[in-house]
Amino acid sequence: MYLTFNSLIVSPLPIPLHLFLYCLYTAWDLVNQSISYIFLILNNCVNILVSVLISFYVMSCDSLRCTHDLPKVPKLDACSTKSLLVVSDSMMVFTIALVVIINLALSKSQVCPPADVCVRQAPYKNVTITTDSTYRYVTTSQCPPYQNPQWTNPSVACDREITYKIPLHPKLPTAVKTIPVGEGLKVWNNILYLKEDPAPIFGAMGVLLSGVNIFGVGSPCGYSSRCPENGGPSKYVDAVESEGHTTDQCGGHADPHHTYHIHSNTGFNSSKTGGRKNCQLPVDDPGKHSQLLGWMFDGFGIYGQFSEDGKVPTDLDECGGHTHSINGVSVYHYHFPYPSKFPWTIGCFKGCPEASNNPHEYSGFTKYGC
Ligand SMILES: [Zn+2]
Ligand SMILES: [Zn+2]
Repeated sequence: MYLTFNSLIVSPLPIPLHLFLYCLYTAWDLVNQSISYIFLILNNCVNILVSVLISFYVMSCDSLRCTHDLPKVPKLDACSTKSLLVVSDSMMVFTIALVVIINLALSKSQVCPPADVCVRQAPYKNVTITTDSTYRYVTTSQCPPYQNPQWTNPSVACDREITYKIPLHPKLPTAVKTIPVGEGLKVWNNILYLKEDPAPIFGAMGVLLSGVNIFGVGSPCGYSSRCPENGGPSKYVDAVESEGHTTDQCGGHADPHHTYHIHSNTGFNSSKTGGRKNCQLPVDDPGKHSQLLGWMFDGFGIYGQFSEDGKVPTDLDECGGHTHSINGVSVYHYHFPYPSKFPWTIGCFKGCPEASNNPHEYSGFTKYGC
C-alpha cells in the first residue's frame, strides 16, 4: 500500500498551495515508486541468489548426501517497508517453493537404500586382495577411493561391499574364439550406436586395483541420444559418448543403482586431472611396459597403454590384448587402447568371465562354451 497525498489535494485551496502540494505529491510518488522498483529488483536478485547458493550448498555438502535431512530454508527478510513486502511476497513464495522442490529432488536422488554412502574424505575404504589356488578375491566397497565431487551426475555412489572372483587359470570358450562385449554399428547424430545383436554387456566386466568397477561400453539409448522410435538406429549407444559429461576427474560416476564405475581410462589417464596417482592407480615408468591397472573377469590383467620399451603396442588382437613376457612369465593380457577410443577398455573377452561376478550378464555364456 503506497502512502499518497491524494487526500491532501482538495479544493478549495489557494492555487499556489494546490500547485505546491501537487508537485510534492508527484515528487513523492516518483521517489516512492522508484524506491519500490529498486528494492523489488534487489529483493528478487537476493532471492534468486539465495536459492542458487542453497542449491550449491546442498550439492556440495557431504553431510547432506544420502540423508533425508533438508537444509532449513532461511527466512528471507524482504524489505523494511510494508509496501515492498506486499509486492515481494509472491516472488518470495515462488522462490521458497523452488528451493524446496530443488532440495527435495536432490535429496531424493541422493538416498542410498539400503547401504551407506561412500566415504568421501580420506581415509577411504581399502580394497582387499587375497588368493587361493583357484581365484584372486577382490573385496571392494565399490566406492571411489578418492574425492568424487559428483559435478553433474545426479546419482550418488553408495557403499556396496562385494567380493569379485578373478580366475587365476583363465578358461577359454570352446564354441567361439572370443566373446563379444559390444560392437559398433554406426555413427548417427554425432554419437556411436552399438549393435543390438550381439548386445553389449552391461554392468561390471572387471575391476581396477583401486576397487573401482570397470563397466561395459554400452548404454541404453534415450539418455543423451535418440531411441529407435525417434529415428535412432539402435537401442544401445557408446556409454563414454553418451554419459561422459557426468564423470568425475577419474572418469567415473555412479549409475542410478548407486554403483560407481568407469567405462574408460579417459579420466585417470589425463595429466590435467592429476592422472592415475590421484585415482589410486599405479603410474607408469617412462620407457617401460605399463603397469597392471586391474583384472577383467575372465582372469586376464589389463594394463596401461604402453607395451615393452614404453611403446604403443602394434600387435593387439581384436580384444585389445597380446601375449609376451612380463616379469619373466609369458602371459596374455589386455592394454587400454591408445589413444583412448572405442571400445575404451577391451574389445571382447578372450576368456570366459566368472559368472558369479555379474550373473545377469554372464550366466548365459554357456552358449559360448564357457
Ligand atoms: Zn556409466
Ligand atoms: Zn603388453
